[in-house]
Amino acid sequence: MIYKRFYFILIPLLFMCFCISSPIHAKEESIFKQRMALYKKTEALTSIPWYYIAAIDQYERNSQKEPLNEKVISVTIDDNLWYGLGNSAMIKDETVIEFFHGIGKDGNGDNKADPNNGEDTLFTIGNWILHYGPTKDDIKIALWNYYKRDLTVQSIMSTAKVFKKFQKLELKDREFPVSTKHNYSYNNTWGDRRGFGGLRIHEGTDIFASYGTPVKSTTYGVVEMKGWNLYGGWRLGIRDINNIYHYYGHLNGYEDDLKVGQVVKPGDILGSVGSSGYGPPGTSGKFPPHLHYGMYKDNGYSEWSFDPYPYLKRWERMTK
Ligand SMILES: [Zn+2]
Repeated sequence: MIYKRFYFILIPLLFMCFCISSPIHAKEESIFKQRMALYKKTEALTSIPWYYIAAIDQYERNSQKEPLNEKVISVTIDDNLWYGLGNSAMIKDETVIEFFHGIGKDGNGDNKADPNNGEDTLFTIGNWILHYGPTKDDIKIALWNYYKRDLTVQSIMSTAKVFKKFQKLELKDREFPVSTKHNYSYNNTWGDRRGFGGLRIHEGTDIFASYGTPVKSTTYGVVEMKGWNLYGGWRLGIRDINNIYHYYGHLNGYEDDLKVGQVVKPGDILGSVGSSGYGPPGTSGKFPPHLHYGMYKDNGYSEWSFDPYPYLKRWERMTK
């Protein structure tokens, strides 16, 4: 009797789960398609390559306090900039906007420049950048003038590079940063004062493994930093498309030909585990060999570290 009752509950429950999960996945897939279609349309209208438009939109999505993932386009433009100072009635007619020196444009052809319409905002951004010119350097200058922040420009340019290389928006694969074919161990050392990293609180997770164990990229991104640091030793920084900076410390060495500005994908070998740091360049062996892995999030105003441990656990499951 009890079993029967159990199935009575279980079967509808499983069915419900199926109904809930599959449309979400389909919806997510279609949002990437919708976005790509709009980016490509903007490219056709402005000649600004789609991956720059996509990178700006991605940056703004990641900067929002409460990311509205279901929103197709996230670019938002300040009302004063859009309508022009003096256009206090917020008239959406392009000629009126132009008269008041606003930048708002009509991208979808409905004769209204609407800041709440994704096609209009993308076309407006594309058009605005075009005033500076279509080359990579022109776009960089345009972005600096728009955001007035170096890290923002760097993040958008990095994301654009990744989108250009992989020619898609959906980049969800991840890998564990240390080869899972080797022996390794790690605990949640977040905030631990005894961790190795040279920071007052331990901003990361230490993954212990033997010298020479391959260190891999966990994500899609661009190498932003490479070289010696007093405490980090031979360290490496990779910025991903979600504006997260992934920090690798105490390496034994780098993979040959690995350069700043290089695009990487999950699983790419970056170097190997070591014990470098705590002294002048080349210092090694002052603590047991391990990879220090840190994660830093930027929201367009400030950057802060957060605990990588739960992510490492998830990536470890995905890799094995
Ligand atoms: Zn550490």
